[in-house]
Amino acid sequence: MRARLREGFAQFFAKLKDHALEWAVTAALVTVIPPMLAIEEQFVAWFNSLFPPTWWYRAFLVLIVVMWWRWIRWEWNRPRLRPHPESGTYIDIKTGTHYCTKCRKEGHPVALRESKTAWRCFGCDSFYPKLRGSSD
Ligand SMILES: [Zn+2]
Repeated sequence: MRARLREGFAQFFAKLKDHALEWAVTAALVTVIPPMLAIEEQFVAWFNSLFPPTWWYRAFLVLIVVMWWRWIRWEWNRPRLRPHPESGTYIDIKTGTHYCTKCRKEGHPVALRESKTAWRCFGCDSFYPKLRGSSD
């Protein structure tokens, strides 16, 4: 009887130990969230009293305009890559910069460093030799 009880306690404590972090996080959340909600209500009331509602609409409009502006700039500045069969790389049609084929396929195009005889990728260490007679 005592041995079974001891075994049961041992199992219980082993389980407790396995889930100690979950229990600690749950206990912390349960004791922290209700007072936080009470404080948050006062905080929201105070925060709303700071600015008139029209300011929020204006801030929202500014946020939307800024997001659009950033998206347009990102779209404008991102490289327009076309395959460049002579070298096996991709080339940005706006700037003429060569990009690594392997890195582009992995979803993060890397601009190649150009030397006299080849292009080298510093992302994956690929090497694209220049052919004799190719223009660039
Ligand atoms: Zn690469």
